[in-house]
Amino acid sequence: MNLRIGQGIDFHRLESGLKLWLGGVAVPSEKGCIAHSDGDVLLHAICDAMLGAAGIEDIGHQFPDTSNEYKNIDSKILLKRSFDLIKKAGFSVGNIDCTVCLEKPKIAPYIPEMRSLISAVLETSSENISIKATTTEKLGFIGKEEGAAAIAICLLESRQ
Ligand SMILES: [Zn+2]
Repeated sequence: MNLRIGQGIDFHRLESGLKLWLGGVAVPSEKGCIAHSDGDVLLHAICDAMLGAAGIEDIGHQFPDTSNEYKNIDSKILLKRSFDLIKKAGFSVGNIDCTVCLEKPKIAPYIPEMRSLISAVLETSSENISIKATTTEKLGFIGKEEGAAAIAICLLESRQ
């Protein structure tokens, strides 16, 4: 079996009054991410980790934010399209490990739903999708609730 590893990182600015989409779930929050798409920082990091592991160009290249096709798009569609690309390249998902960096709200109650949504799209079991969360102890732009970040590491398997 051929194994390939990839990493992805994403950042978005936060603004009051926007919906906060994380891991495909609308998390109740005072602030949401500013973006061309729905701003799902976690799904974007996962897309880039998968594409990177497969050696395919990144999410910004696949789904340009200058295209009207992707305006306000549900990032689960971007996740599905990224998965289709890695599948076409002969890969399946081994496991993915992610960390969301956000001062608030606490996302732990929503993680099981995120894992189940993501694993369904990626045709794997939810034990293969790990999602963790951390704050930055009020430090920097994340600590000041000006932005959110996510990091993902992905292992792909190929039977070629
Ligand atoms: Zn993004």
